[in-house]
Amino acid sequence: MATDSLKENRLFINGEFVPSFSGKKFDIINPTTEEVIASVHEADVGDVDRAVEAAKAAFPAWSALSAQARCDYLSKLADEIEKNEELFIHLEAVTMGMPPSGMKFVLATSKQYLKYFGSHAMDITGETSLNTPGYLNMSIRQPYGVCGGIIPWNAPLLMLITKIGPALAAGNTMVLKSSEKSPFASIVFASLCQRVGLPKGVLNILSGFGQPCGEAIAKHMDIRRISFTGSVATGRAIQKASSESNLKDVSLELGGKSPLLVFDDAPLEKAVMSATFSILYNSGQVCMASTRIYVQESIAPKFIEALKQAMAQMGVPGDPTLADTKRGPQVDKLQFSRVLSYLDHAKEQGFEIALGGNKARDKGYFVDATIVRNVPEDDKLIKEEIFGPVLVVNTFTGEEEVLTRANDTEFGLYSSVFTSDISRALRVAKALEAGAVGVNCTSPFMVVDLPMGGWKQSGAGGREFSKACLDTWTQLKSVFISL
Ligand code: NAD
Repeated sequence: MATDSLKENRLFINGEFVPSFSGKKFDIINPTTEEVIASVHEADVGDVDRAVEAAKAAFPAWSALSAQARCDYLSKLADEIEKNEELFIHLEAVTMGMPPSGMKFVLATSKQYLKYFGSHAMDITGETSLNTPGYLNMSIRQPYGVCGGIIPWNAPLLMLITKIGPALAAGNTMVLKSSEKSPFASIVFASLCQRVGLPKGVLNILSGFGQPCGEAIAKHMDIRRISFTGSVATGRAIQKASSESNLKDVSLELGGKSPLLVFDDAPLEKAVMSATFSILYNSGQVCMASTRIYVQESIAPKFIEALKQAMAQMGVPGDPTLADTKRGPQVDKLQFSRVLSYLDHAKEQGFEIALGGNKARDKGYFVDATIVRNVPEDDKLIKEEIFGPVLVVNTFTGEEEVLTRANDTEFGLYSSVFTSDISRALRVAKALEAGAVGVNCTSPFMVVDLPMGGWKQSGAGGREFSKACLDTWTQLKSVFISL
C-alpha cells in the first residue's frame, strides 16, 4: 500500500490531476523514520490562477443545481471515504504520524460532517416581511461564487471537510490549498471526487506552501470569500492580503491555549482521563487541546499523582502504522525542535518537571508525555501554543482567582470545568472567555450541530459547523416588491 498510495502527487484542477506549471516538487518526510517517502508537485501563482478559472467556469451550473443534488454528491463522497478508510489511516500514519486510534475519530467525524452539511443544504433560506404597507419584502441567501480554503496539517481530512462541506453545500465552488506538511489526504480526496463524478472545477485542490500559493489565494481578485484554519500569525497575513486586494470575506480559525479547571468536588477520575486524552490526542498537536490545568489546592496531590500515572500509561509513543499504538511522533523536525525548545526553557527556569521532559526516542520526532508544575502565569509555557504533549499544571484556591488566571490569555478557543456543583458549573461556563466550554468533559469533544470557533485571537469572521456556519457561506440580498 505504501508506494501505491503516494504515487499520485499532482495538483487537482478542473477535475484532472495535472503537474504544476513550474514542475517544482517538495519532499514529504515520514516523522517516524525521518526518511523522504514522497515528493509532491508545488503550486505557484499560475496554478492558483488556472484553478480559480476552473472554479469560476463551474460556478453557474453548480449553484443552479438543486440543494438535493449537491447533497447527493456530498453524501457519495462520505461513502467513498468509508470505502477508503484503510488508505487514509495509512497515509496519515506515514506522513504526519497519526496512529489508527486517532484516525478513527477523524474518519467518523469527516463522514458525519459531510452528510450533515449536505443534508442541511435545503435549510439555506431567507426571510420574508410584510411589515411595510404596500410591499412584500424578502431576503435571499446566495453563494459567493469562487471561495478559497487554506488548511493546516494536523487533521488534514477533517480540516478539508470543514471547508468544502458547507462551501459546496451552499452552492459555491472552491480552490483549496492543503498544508505542505500533509498534502496526501487532500490528494486522495480529489481522486474520490473523480470517482463520484463531481462536476469538473467545483473543487480544485492545490498542494503548496504559504508563499507563493497560499498568499496568491488570499490576494486573488476573483475569490470572494476565504476560510482559513491555522496559526494566528498566518491568519493576520490573510486578513491583510484580503484588505490589500478585494476585501474578500475572511473567516479565521486559529490557535488556542485552553484552560481546564478542576474543583475539589470534581469527578476526579473523569477529570484525569479527560485531561490526559486531551493533551495526548495527536501528540498535543490540536488547536483546542487542554494545555493549562488549574487544580484546586486541596485535591492537587491526589489529582497530580493520578494524572502522572495516566499520562505515563497512555503516553507511550510508538510506530503510528501499528494498530495498537496510542501516540505517534510530532509532525516534522521543525515542530519537534520547537517543542523541545519549550522543554529546555522549563529546565533553564528551574520549573518542576513532574513527568517526561525530553525527546522520547533516538530516531523519529518523538517527545515525552510531559507535565510541568507551578509555572508563573506570565511565562511563555502559559502564554504560547506549544503544540506538543506538554501539560502545565498549576494550583488555585478560589473560583474568582482561577477565572482571572484562566481568562488572562489572548486565546479563547475552548475551556473546561470539572465540578459536581451545577450552579458553579454554569457560573464558570458563563464566565470563561472561549468559543466552547466543556462541563465535566473537554476537547476534542465537539458536535457538528453547534457552532465551533474562537473568541479573542482564536478566531474571527464566523463559526464552523452548525446551521450558523452554512449561513456564512452565503451572502444576503434584500429584495423589495411593491404591491
Ligand atoms: P500555519 O499558519 O503555519 O499554516 C496553515 C496553512 O496556512 C498552511 O496550509 C500554510 O501553508 C498556509 N500559509 C502559511 N503562510 C501563509 C500565507 N502567508 N498566506 C496564506 N497561507 C499561508 O499553521 P499550521 O502550523 O499548519 O497549523 C497549526 C496551527 O493551526 C496552530 O496554531 C493551531 O492551533 C491552528 N489550528 C486551529 C484550528 C481551529 O479550528 N481553530 C484547527 C487546527 C489547527
